[in-house]
Formats: sequence, structure tokens, C-alpha cells
Amino acid sequence: MRKAWEKNIRTVVPYTPGEQPKFLEMVKLNTNENPYPPSPRVKEALDAINYENLRLYPDPACEELVAALAARYQVSPEEVFVGVGSDDVLSMCFLTFFHSGKPIFFPDVTYSFYDVWADVYGIPYERQPLNDRFEIVKEDYYRENGGVIFPNPNAPTGLLMELSEIEEIIRHNQDVVVVVDEAYIDFGGKSAVELIHKYDNLLVVQTFSKSRSMAGMRIGYAMGNKDLIRYLSDVKYSVNSYTMNLPALAAGKAALEDEAYFQENVNRIISTRERTKKELSKLGFTFGDSKANFIFATHERFQARELFEALKIKKIFVRYFNKPRIDNYLRISIGTDQEMDTLLEFLKKYVKEN
Ligand code: PMP
Repeated sequence: MRKAWEKNIRTVVPYTPGEQPKFLEMVKLNTNENPYPPSPRVKEALDAINYENLRLYPDPACEELVAALAARYQVSPEEVFVGVGSDDVLSMCFLTFFHSGKPIFFPDVTYSFYDVWADVYGIPYERQPLNDRFEIVKEDYYRENGGVIFPNPNAPTGLLMELSEIEEIIRHNQDVVVVVDEAYIDFGGKSAVELIHKYDNLLVVQTFSKSRSMAGMRIGYAMGNKDLIRYLSDVKYSVNSYTMNLPALAAGKAALEDEAYFQENVNRIISTRERTKKELSKLGFTFGDSKANFIFATHERFQARELFEALKIKKIFVRYFNKPRIDNYLRISIGTDQEMDTLLEFLKKYVKEN
């Protein structure tokens, strides 16, 4: 029996993040973290923090981090918004931009937080089905809607859309806000940020969690027309003015000062990904041409769930989604070469013995 007060409660089915097991020894390929540490500049910046300053509130405008991002992406500071990971930024986008009452559009197979935010904020939505090669069909987004959001590359498929196709989607949706979630763009894609001066309804969201190896710091950002950024900031200041903490502001700025490390870090992941693709093919896996730091693969003989369980017993963690269309796929994050070898050795043996 529900109690009287329970009737007044906002109930939601929450987003389920990937497991964070507590083992010391494991191969963790389940949450798209970067296997390498952040730039050493980040350590220096954190070491330089005077702990006494933690008594003070951080800069609510995050001016230094915003300025560093603006310089890096050749936009003006008024065109940058920062938040506690891109989840925070995306959540603010849902709250700010998708207020028309008309359904917003996103793919049927995509980041599984989108429908959760839509539900929690009471935003209607329509899922547009990917085609049978798991590609976004741009024409599906040409109908009237209350806003559009999709990741590029898409998650968990890893498939990248060409910038020209993205521009087509934006061009057909100039009466609503289009959010391109570029959490994985640095692993081989071309950012849509260059289009923000051409389309004032485009918002590009990125994160320090993957390509900058800083998932634990929680830094995300959005770039778009200054009016969009102002609307976003107004909502943010109406929810929580001090979102980013002092260490995150310092660490984020320091990471941006080390472009060479960033490039090297990303290139290492890309080369491991391409090698892993070749090895997985030899073992009977098929997958799209991922441009992210993960591979979304299915096997010709073995059920994904069975492989997921067998790997888990060996403390090799990958992600399995028990969801329509994708319940026979594994999402395998790209780890170090050594971690990928452990995974591949196990799979080789499994395929041979079963
Ligand atoms: N967008 C997509 C597509 C993602 O996969 C993730 C990672 N779970 C995020 C956004 C959020 O990442 P973060 O909050 O760590 O920036």
C-alpha cells in the first residue's frame, strides 16, 4: 500500500551507470574510461592547491576554465558553458531548451540517459529508429519537433556521422535547439563546433571524461551561440550556482595547457582500437567502424550475455545492455594494449573450447 505522502512524490526509473567493481586486479572495459592518467600538468595543478582555500566558494562563473576552453576551441568566453561532467551540462540543456511541450527527437539506440532526463523533467519524446546498420537516418529528424539531441559518434554504436549530414539535420531544425553530444568526438571525428557561428540554434557538448582521462574530476562543457549560453546559465544559477569545485577548475585548466599530451593520449587509444578491431574480426566478431573509445560487437556463434558473464568471472568487465535491438552486443571500452591482450587471449580460448 502506498502511503498518502508517496502520492505526491516524483518517481523516476533512474539511469543505471556501468558497474564500478572494487577489485584491485581487474580489466575494466565497461564504462569508457581512459586507461591512461591525465596530463602531469593536472597533478602539478592539484598539488599547488592551498587546502586552506577550500573554505572559500569557487568562482561561480568558472572564468579561468571558460577562458582556457574558449582559447582552445577558438570561440569567445560568452559562447562557453561548463558543468559537472557533460551529464550535468546535458541535464541543464534538457531543462533549458526542451520546454515547448512538443516531443523532442533522439535515436532509439543511443545514450540511455536521454529518456531518463526527458522523464524526470516531463519532456515528451520520440525515438527515431537507427537503420539496420545502426546508422542515424537524418531524414527522420526533418519533421516538426521540440528539439533534437544525439551523440556523435553515437553511443553505444560508436558510429560517426559526417559533419555535412549533421549540418543537414541542423538546417532542417532551425526553429528548435539541436544538441550534438560529442563525448567521444576526439577519437576520430570532426567536431560540429565550427558550425556554431553559422547556426545560432546549435549547441555542442563535450567532456574531459574520455579523451582527457578525467572522468573522476567531472568536467563537461557546451559551446554555442551566446544567447543559448546565457539561457543555460540562467537555469544553472537557478538550480545551483556553485557547480564546479575548486580542484576541478584548476585541473581542467591545466589539462588544456598540455595539448601535446592530449594528442598523444588520444592517438594511443585510436591505435589500440584499430588493432583490437582486427583481432576481434579474426575471432568471429562483427561491429561497425567505431570512431569512439569503445567497440560495439556481436559474435556469430555466442550470445553476448553468455560472453559477458564468462568474462566477468575472469574479472574482465565489459558492458552489456539488456535492451531491444542491442541485447546481443557487447560494448568493449578500449583499455591499454595489455588489457586488450588479456581480453583477446580469453576470447581466443573461449572460441576454441566452446
Ligand atoms: N554523453 C555520452 C554519449 C556518454 O556516453 C557519456 C558517458 N557516460 C556522457 C555523455 C557523460 O559523460 P560525463 O558526464 O562523464 O562527461
